[in-house]
Amino acid sequence: TATESSSSSPPPSSDQTSPPRVPNLIGGSFLDSKSPSTIDVINPATQEVVSQVPLTTLDEFKAAVSAAKNAFRSWRNTPITTRQRVMLKLQELIRRDKDKLALNITTEQGKTLKDAHGDVFRGLEVVEHACGMATLQMGEYVSNVAHGIDTYSIREPLGVCAGICPFNFPAMIPLWMFPVAVTCGNTFVLKPSEKDPGASLMLAELAMEAGLPDGVLNIVHGTNDIVNAICDDEDIKAVSFVGSNTAGMHIYARASAAGKRVQSNMGAKNHAIVMPDANIDATINALVAAGFGAAGQRCMALSTVVFVGDSKPWLSRLVQSAKALKVNSGTEPDADLGPVISKQVLLLIFFKSVPGYENGNFVGPTILAGVRQDMECYKEEIFGPVLICMEADSLEEAISIVNRNKYGNGGSIFTASGAAARKFQTEIECGQVGINVPIPVPLPFFSFTGNKASFAGDLNFYGKAGVNFYTQIKTITQQWKDLPDGSGVSLAMPTSQ
Ligand code: NAD
Repeated sequence: TATESSSSSPPPSSDQTSPPRVPNLIGGSFLDSKSPSTIDVINPATQEVVSQVPLTTLDEFKAAVSAAKNAFRSWRNTPITTRQRVMLKLQELIRRDKDKLALNITTEQGKTLKDAHGDVFRGLEVVEHACGMATLQMGEYVSNVAHGIDTYSIREPLGVCAGICPFNFPAMIPLWMFPVAVTCGNTFVLKPSEKDPGASLMLAELAMEAGLPDGVLNIVHGTNDIVNAICDDEDIKAVSFVGSNTAGMHIYARASAAGKRVQSNMGAKNHAIVMPDANIDATINALVAAGFGAAGQRCMALSTVVFVGDSKPWLSRLVQSAKALKVNSGTEPDADLGPVISKQVLLLIFFKSVPGYENGNFVGPTILAGVRQDMECYKEEIFGPVLICMEADSLEEAISIVNRNKYGNGGSIFTASGAAARKFQTEIECGQVGINVPIPVPLPFFSFTGNKASFAGDLNFYGKAGVNFYTQIKTITQQWKDLPDGSGVSLAMPTSQ
């Protein structure tokens, strides 16, 4: 049988001789999986095995879904004010433990500690937003739609929802998902990335400390098999996915075919158009920060710059600025960018040796100039610290380059011209547009609105769309009359005349 640790025991610590196994969370208990198969979680700066993630068995997965299904009965009827208060406490606890969370992220994912704090903070903002769920989840009411008859709609939770996460934001992306889902009254099964599951476990611990009842949030681990089980399970009503297009389109097709709602945020190739009138210093800083921050492993990282006019003066400044960046372990205070997640990425791009971390997956900031649209490096998402530079003769040509790209996550323009900015805003086919802003990720009162190949589904993550995704509408028509109206039976379609 599974070895049960007490429900209050923390996720694994590192003071054991062999790497600790990451537990599942089922019905409020952290349980070691029975599975003999595990995947190593590797510190990308050192290759140290931090922990081992089990390939959760099908029986354990079913137990997690069943715990979520049972918990839904009472959680959906728990007053929304109580559900909000759990979030209010959770945001306080995340603030309390932000350093621990950030260190875990840097250890498992590699990003710098400062950037890891950003990962936590951008997720925390979604928790804060969920504290106002009663207002966000409000229905509508029309009085007297016919004599003595009122109609109103309410937004009800769906039941058990599931989330499947990528490696690049180990805290923010789980926090895009479960806080909104559970505050709407759903229960949840979370499948963290097998590359860095630690932050999800820590957040689940905090959610339980904040008062989330047993079974409302469950965690299972694994890769394709567990994901397919999520897509097929008839007790799961909705699936939130963030990750690559290969996985995302597979999950979208399979879970939709099983009748589920799916929101699937996928890959990107985010462009910036730089006009000749753009502020030089501010633009160079923005391009370098957005291109190489988090070692280029953000879905909203800038991967392509299209300079309108001659790019040479811009390129020399860009190279100068990129050369000044420090590549180091994310735990080192001077690090600007840490390692990339895996050695496989290194096969595609250039390795850099860092003293003291000779085994790390380091890639220096890389600028590829003179790139054409038919080149492989342009067509595919690289997801590393690589900035592709192109030229266009006019704003029209630059916009048409961006619009021909299959992805539509983010796009920015740098200019001093309001007319150019307005043309860009109107004609660009990206869901998230920046005007002199390099990474235009909306805060949680808006939604994350990638489009084209960067998104499948119709209801985006967080904001109003996120609440709509995790709720379904029920519309009630009521009639209360003191006395029967004595008009007899009519079989005609009721109308309000
Ligand atoms: P990934 O697709 O490899 O993994 C994401 C999740 O899907 C993991 O939990 C993994 O176990 C699972 N998975 C992977 N392949 C699968 C398959 N064939 N079948 C079923 N499940 C599978 O993505 P990643 O490498 O962890 O993350 C990087 C990708 O995520 C990039 O493409 C990036 O652009 C994208 N991303 C997008 C957004 C966004 O909001 N648009 C945000 C972050 C990351």
